[in-house]
Amino acid sequence: MEILKTIITVNFTGMAALFSGVVIFIVGMIVYRRDPRRMSNIFFLLLCTSCALWGIAIGVLVLTIKSQLFLPIAVLVYFFSATIPITFLFFALTLSTERISLLKFQLILAIIPIILIEGAILMPGFIIQEVLSKPNVPIIIHFGKGFPFFMAYLIFYLLWSLAILIKRYQEGAGIFKAQLRHVLFVSVIAVTLALTTNLFLPLWGIFTVFAWGPIFVMVALLGIGYLIIKYNLWNLKLVATELFAFLIIITLIVEIVITTSLADFVTKVSITLLVAFSSIFLIRSVRNEVESKEEVEKLLKDLAYANDELQTLDKRKSEFLSIASHHLRDPLTAIKGYASMLLEGSFGGELSPAVKEAIQKILESSKRLVTIVEDFLNISQIEQGEMVYTLTSVDIKKLVHDVVEEMSPSVSRAGLDMELIADGISNEGSTIQGDAGKLRQVITNLIDNSIKYTPKGSVRVMLTHTERGGKTFVQLSVTDTGIGMDKSTQEKIFNKFSRAEGVSKLYTDGSGLGLYVAKEILKKHNGRIWAESQGLGSGSTFFIEFPVGNSSNSEIRES
Ligand code: ADP
Repeated sequence: MEILKTIITVNFTGMAALFSGVVIFIVGMIVYRRDPRRMSNIFFLLLCTSCALWGIAIGVLVLTIKSQLFLPIAVLVYFFSATIPITFLFFALTLSTERISLLKFQLILAIIPIILIEGAILMPGFIIQEVLSKPNVPIIIHFGKGFPFFMAYLIFYLLWSLAILIKRYQEGAGIFKAQLRHVLFVSVIAVTLALTTNLFLPLWGIFTVFAWGPIFVMVALLGIGYLIIKYNLWNLKLVATELFAFLIIITLIVEIVITTSLADFVTKVSITLLVAFSSIFLIRSVRNEVESKEEVEKLLKDLAYANDELQTLDKRKSEFLSIASHHLRDPLTAIKGYASMLLEGSFGGELSPAVKEAIQKILESSKRLVTIVEDFLNISQIEQGEMVYTLTSVDIKKLVHDVVEEMSPSVSRAGLDMELIADGISNEGSTIQGDAGKLRQVITNLIDNSIKYTPKGSVRVMLTHTERGGKTFVQLSVTDTGIGMDKSTQEKIFNKFSRAEGVSKLYTDGSGLGLYVAKEILKKHNGRIWAESQGLGSGSTFFIEFPVGNSSNSEIRES
């Protein structure tokens, strides 16, 4: 203790520089520990370590009273200070990009000067000639001939780092831009202040504020550390808790050091230990909370990423469907066309019943395939927002009449009866604004389904008017005596690729797309579609409804 008193003394400036060094290192550790894999965090820790060692060395230099120690400690101060610009440079290079964009030879060029300058600092008398201590002035250093090299190195690297930050700021966007603007602002102030107190003023022989440099740097690094973690507020809570606990414990330790009586000493040590233990628990619980919140945030980010990926995949799938369907459509139309011409005898000669039956099957299958391919095309168009609707006034009554007539051969072939009830509605009263082709597709699909899913019995197509909320609607219902469906099926069949359970045994070729496409088409007509059924085996009714509109021609592209 006595020996120590001959070496050091306690003064405010020295203690402040020492304290700054310790705080700087803690800030570096906190930021680093937040995400040790981040390159910018690693360089921030290295920058903090350089600054911390420099601050501590200044503190020790100012506190030292043994004159023989002045020179070696001053050399250490400059030795550590020379590491600051290079770590700052790498921090600036990696901040917000996480990679060093320098070429190998540029990297070597960046590192060589520091080796030279450190060598120069260690050379006796070259940069630091002698160190004196005077009353009221912490320290006085006389610089050697090499000092301009040190100055040039320091200024060049600090300006280079600031230039990199400015470039990053100009290229940056969003929150990174804001983050870089603040980091830049804080850095410029800290660099200016530290250069003034520790480089320019000492050049004029003014050393009164020499020990303030680390304090400015501490404030700046606290600011930068805060900015690095600012975008993750949960961490801030942990940092605040850790800092708070640290300050309390330091205060208590100082209390212990200056204590005089043994009783006081014991009480204070016990309190300090108690506070230290509870701080550990407090920090642990805050850390757990932070970690679980970070985990949730990470999962959310992953989810958003996965969602993006899925959307891209979905888009690609739509594009693929579109291309594939386009390529399938033309040959299919040819197959269908030739099969139909063969059946009609367009190529002369009588066909045997077996050949006729075979061609009939080809025709039926190709028709089914055409419908499926059309559905795929529709889906991809809907998903890519490329479905084009050509709107004209459509007489629904006439349209339904035509479709029913067109489909009656299929109904008869299936051994079913079909009736159309549309007496209560006039042609004018059933005129709506819509795309005739697409509406025909929807109505055909509904009647086709009722045939497919009705093993025996009848299909009734009914057209009526309904009134709701002062508006008149045209309502079409297709009722069959078929397989029916339960409540949950009624809701899900309007989804993409959705079919009732077990229905594929009855009708294998279904794609589960027709009703989805119908729903989308109806949406664009301000109409709606729904199904009702008393349950399995009790038949079903499918309804579509449109508002009655006035007529005009236009074209809309789905968006
Ligand atoms: P697909 O008929 O090609 O399977 P849809 O989208 O037209 O595709 O129909 C979806 C599903 O809705 C059908 O698979 C079937 O389970 C059910 N469905 C449609 N119409 C009827 C109906 N009239 N009676 C019973 N179920 C039906």
